[in-house]
Amino acid sequence: MADQILTKQTIPPIDPDLQFEALLDKIRNGPHKMDLVRIRAAYEMAKEAHSGQKRKDGSPYVTHCIAAADICCDTGLDEDSIVAALLHDVIEDTPLTHADIAKKFGPQVADIVEGVTKLTRVQYTSKEDEQMENLRKMLMAMSKDIRVILIKIADRMHNMRTMDYQSPDKQRSKSLETMEIYAPIAHRLGMQRAKWELEDLSLQYLDPEGYHEIVNNLQSKMPQLENFMSSMEKKMSDRLKEEGIQATIYGRIKHVYSIYRKMYAQKIDMSSIFDLCAFRIIVDSIPDCYNVLGIIHDMFKPVPGRFKDYISTPKPNMYQSVHTTVIGSEGIPFEVQIRTWDMHATAEYGIAAHWKYKLGDGASTVHQGDEDKFAWVRRLLESQQESDASDFFHNLKIDMFGDEVFVFSPKGDVVNLPAGATPIDFAYTIHSHVGNSMIGAKVNGSIVPYDHVLQNGDIVEIRTSKSAPGPSRDWLNIAKSGSARTKIKQWFKKERREENIIRGRSMLEDELRHSGISVDDALAEEIITPVMKRHSYNSVDDLCAAIGYGGITVSRIVNRVRDELQKAASEKEKKTAYDKMSQAAERREQQAQRNAKAIHGILVEGLDNCLVKFSRCCTPVPGDDIVGFITRGQGVSIHRRDCINYQKSLDTEEQGRWIHVSWADNITDTYLTTIVIAAKDRSGLVLDIATILNSINAKVRSLTARDVGYGTALTTVTLEVRSIQDLRYIMSRLLSVPSVQSVKRNGQA
Ligand code: MN
Repeated sequence: MADQILTKQTIPPIDPDLQFEALLDKIRNGPHKMDLVRIRAAYEMAKEAHSGQKRKDGSPYVTHCIAAADICCDTGLDEDSIVAALLHDVIEDTPLTHADIAKKFGPQVADIVEGVTKLTRVQYTSKEDEQMENLRKMLMAMSKDIRVILIKIADRMHNMRTMDYQSPDKQRSKSLETMEIYAPIAHRLGMQRAKWELEDLSLQYLDPEGYHEIVNNLQSKMPQLENFMSSMEKKMSDRLKEEGIQATIYGRIKHVYSIYRKMYAQKIDMSSIFDLCAFRIIVDSIPDCYNVLGIIHDMFKPVPGRFKDYISTPKPNMYQSVHTTVIGSEGIPFEVQIRTWDMHATAEYGIAAHWKYKLGDGASTVHQGDEDKFAWVRRLLESQQESDASDFFHNLKIDMFGDEVFVFSPKGDVVNLPAGATPIDFAYTIHSHVGNSMIGAKVNGSIVPYDHVLQNGDIVEIRTSKSAPGPSRDWLNIAKSGSARTKIKQWFKKERREENIIRGRSMLEDELRHSGISVDDALAEEIITPVMKRHSYNSVDDLCAAIGYGGITVSRIVNRVRDELQKAASEKEKKTAYDKMSQAAERREQQAQRNAKAIHGILVEGLDNCLVKFSRCCTPVPGDDIVGFITRGQGVSIHRRDCINYQKSLDTEEQGRWIHVSWADNITDTYLTTIVIAAKDRSGLVLDIATILNSINAKVRSLTARDVGYGTALTTVTLEVRSIQDLRYIMSRLLSVPSVQSVKRNGQA
């Protein structure tokens, strides 16, 4: 238990060959069968390449490589990882290349070594939290093969273990980097053991006083703690045996940094922290986990609010266990974590547990919980099930950040961009002003074209100029991020209105013609205005400008124009049908208007409101065929066409004064007309005529009778009638009067 507390490592000068043989022994006794000849060849290559290089402690440099490989072996990594770990510094620190490694150990090992080299080259400077998170993501994204980051962690672990030999500055900066980058990555990968060790190693340089205070305090309490722990352990183990549960119990003192953080976060001193120790109870099955939990709660009083079930709800890094805190004897609280062996492996080694156990002879199944939050881990597990071991490694790609790329600004800021991003995206992400005044870009010190695709870890530098011409339209196609394109469009919108209008108009016209739409039709006011309004443009120029700078696609406008044209066409059709329906009504309306203009029921062609009078010679009534005579100063005089005066004048110079007139449609007036009744004179004739007229309600104005000789009497009657029909009826009735010979109208030729 005491070995959980770290003490300064004192390393006597190491003989690399002995160290390597010890590693081989470990591998030989380990769960994986490996090609020891190949591993030895890697060692020989590394030893040769690093020959003459020394560690700060005076040991040959290769001892570091063996140590890193040793940690990888402890972690349970595979043969390629061990080989790559032995060679992990040769590309960086010796003349050997990727090709040299690939030739001897295959491209996979060479790729891994190159990956570790890239991580090593990333320059670290402490940043605010968001930057740190980006940096962590960048490192993971750069480790396309997960073994790269695992070897990097092993490398860092050994460097931290041997940090005593470095200068205080380097101790501090490396410790900070470890605390902020590598420990969180180990945590993310579920590697609890590595995380703790990295944290404690870092703390010892970052706050030596705080670290040693806790270590000393723990050491002074150690006898007491150990007593307490062994008595608790015995109690629990006896009880579990009684209950017939197969369980292994480990007691441990919590790691220094977790105690430190608790003191710091809660601003308390160490005497106030009670639960310094924790137990793990590891069982064979999930039901046993809950059985044990019940038994522990039966034995000790649980602390309220401290029970956590990460079995039913695993942590994002796949961690599963049941946690509880109980009060032991003497009132000392302690934590108990209950889990199965599978869960234990995952908790200790995280992602690496899958090598450690899956590849062993007795392959154990990995319990799969709710891993939705870590999709890439889930995919890892899936690929594990589907393929054999070698495929599994081959498929091990970290694509958690596959849709992102992380690059550096010259100042060392990490900039997060979409995968496939170019210097244009980078420039606009820094500031739209940088993008708009960009005249060139450098990546890792070399000038690159604007469509250069950025890679993780690239250092990107943008050259700008006040007299830069501004973005080109091609950039819209090159930029990968929506925000860069938006900023480029904004620039065009603002800076190039006239140009945009011309360009937009020609784009619109081209597209219209292409779609078979006449430009004139489309730009007709009734068509284009609703299109403009629909998209909130105030003028056709605005609309064309928007098309020109790419604010709206021309196809959208053309589609809208087509809709409007169709709408207009169907409205026109409707209107035709409506017109037909309304024509009759319109005629009636026109007629009514004409009637309104009629004077005494007479319409005079070409003349409105002229004076109209009815001739005495022929006294026309509605229904008579009539003509008008333009008198001198008396207006128009209306005659029947059969009037004797009309007939006579046709041969005279006055004939030109006749004009066309007609009766209005709805005549309500009555008209005076005169008829002449010829009859054989007899007594009572006039009375008979009067009686008939009276019987038919004729409105008589005057009636005169006179003897014209030869026994004939002429009776002249002037009466009011509405129409020719009235008159004809009256005349026919008069004919029926005894001795009447004829009934004629006056003026008749
Ligand atoms: Mn190294």
